[in-house]
Amino acid sequence: MAGIYLHIPFCESRCIYCNFYSTTRFDVWKDRYVAALCQEIRERKDYLKGELIHTIYLGGGTPSQLSIAQLKTIFECIEENYDLKQCEETTFEANPDDLTLEYLSELKRLPINRISMGVQTFDNRMLRFLRRRHDAEEAIHAIECCRKVGFDNFSIDLIYGLPEETPERWKSDIAQTLALRPPHISAYCLSYESGTPLDKMLKKHQIKEVDEQNSLSYYNLLMKELKQAGYEHYEISNFCLPGKYSRHNSSYWRGIRYLGCGASAHSYNGNERDWNTADLKQYITGIENRNRIFESEILNGTTKYNELIMTALRTSIGINMNKLEETSGKKAHDYCLKMATPHLKTHKLEYTNGYLRLTPDGIFVSDDIISDLFIVSL
Ligand code: SF4
Repeated sequence: MAGIYLHIPFCESRCIYCNFYSTTRFDVWKDRYVAALCQEIRERKDYLKGELIHTIYLGGGTPSQLSIAQLKTIFECIEENYDLKQCEETTFEANPDDLTLEYLSELKRLPINRISMGVQTFDNRMLRFLRRRHDAEEAIHAIECCRKVGFDNFSIDLIYGLPEETPERWKSDIAQTLALRPPHISAYCLSYESGTPLDKMLKKHQIKEVDEQNSLSYYNLLMKELKQAGYEHYEISNFCLPGKYSRHNSSYWRGIRYLGCGASAHSYNGNERDWNTADLKQYITGIENRNRIFESEILNGTTKYNELIMTALRTSIGINMNKLEETSGKKAHDYCLKMATPHLKTHKLEYTNGYLRLTPDGIFVSDDIISDLFIVSL
């Protein structure tokens, strides 16, 4: 089983916190981009060595900036080149203001069965501050429209720890979210990515970062409220109603192979990772001239071990220590357990039935624990 990721690098405007690769210019390049994307999909057909496609994910940027005709072209190309008989999930990332009833009805005719929506907050003042294009009403309307056309499987993204965050504001976002009962919720603490306008504001002391203690209390509140409402906390930032976990993202955490096409998209074949140029024009002209511009990295034993630690420990299942020994050897297995010992003693990690996992107390300091378990060289 394998996955396909397609990057759609167009945004109507840029949000001040975002560091994903996308552009607000070159609208006229969209058709050329779709043609290049299809060419890459065709030319790299053998990358996954005929494995059945289990999941497809259109991310961005903003995939909902493409027209239905452009999306049809992409899906026809995938269907012509890959076996989709076992494809369980096709996710489409969208901005709420693009999700009109008409657009969603057309999306429903395509092989898409999951929508992932960047809601971020229901606070209009914060949405304006973050330079989001939509307001709370549009987000609520988009969710209603999803349900109306039959997209019962959808996810919303939320951000907490915004500047001037208060428990009341965050509680109100959680309450509004639960009132809408989305099948899946991804919630992230605001991060100040280098080079973003938000980071520049922080450095100029125009805004204040929420401290760790408060971030922890917001996260604890989120975990408590969502648990009470019947959501499963299956990964550090991800919650779902029973059975509604993201198949595609779970594949990343399980080390399943995937082909990534489009500007800045990453691919992984089990031994090597490669990533396309994060430059729209370079990407298109490279593909058109049969000279794909990309970089790659062979994953050695150390990198594979560290990646397994980083991804598996973020999930509720945790690290399968037998699998770790199988893939990385006894030395790595013993090293991992040795480094885990202090965290086991302070109950930030637990080790049961062969699985090493974070406890609720460990989740918030997961970055520190993960880096403690990393190995410099195997
Ligand atoms: S958050 Fe989404 S919509 Fe905003 S700039 Fe980033 S990719 Fe574009």
